[in-house]
Amino acid sequence: MRVLRLVIFGSPGAGKGTQAGRIAGRFGVPHIATGDLLREAVARGTELGVKARRYMERGELVPDEIVVGIVEERLRRPDCKKGFVLDGFPRTLAQAKALDEILEKLEIKIDAVINLETSEEEIVKRLSNRRVCKFCGAVYHLIFNPPKNSERCDRCGGELYQREDDREEVIKRRLQVYRMQTRPIIEYYQERGVLITVDGNRSIEEVSKSIGKLLEKLCT
Ligand code: AMP
Repeated sequence: MRVLRLVIFGSPGAGKGTQAGRIAGRFGVPHIATGDLLREAVARGTELGVKARRYMERGELVPDEIVVGIVEERLRRPDCKKGFVLDGFPRTLAQAKALDEILEKLEIKIDAVINLETSEEEIVKRLSNRRVCKFCGAVYHLIFNPPKNSERCDRCGGELYQREDDREEVIKRRLQVYRMQTRPIIEYYQERGVLITVDGNRSIEEVSKSIGKLLEKLCT
């Protein structure tokens, strides 16, 4: 199978995690979500986690040097030789440039940056109804992708919870941060000819099908 190196880009709630997980499963490559890596560090109470927590609770971005370090360490692991799907990184122009430097050191290139373009109205609806399994990380939506039991994970029976930063006031701040710090990266990747924009307002299945078709083209 061909090596696949992708970035899934989009605002919070655009469906990055869901789609990145599907692609990673289909191509047998690791799904690297910086949000998940940071939440793990927070849960373990590591030094890095303690630092990151303050920013995450407020819906702010964790400082670039912390996140870039985590990503570089992760991309150097042997399982990334097959490729990877990056989700939630880069989120600033400085991170995009740092990623280019890491890739250059590893002598590899990104195949594509998939931009999930999703309206703010849709995003607020999605995030406020999102529930995550404490145990396995599975993500549900109480209306569009509901678990059989609103408190338990279908997959593993783990407890479902609402992320602290999925509360309405924090969602607003995260969207503001996205507009100001993250969205400008679109132009950076457009100029490099690797950006592919997909309409993220549709159902999980529809978006997944569109991405599947794009990847088939990319891989032939
Ligand atoms: P996510 O799960 O991708 O929505 O990320 C949750 C939170 O983790 C974000 O609101 C940020 O506080 C932090 N975070 C995740 N990825 C990054 C990144 N690339 N740069 C800075 N902060 C990040």
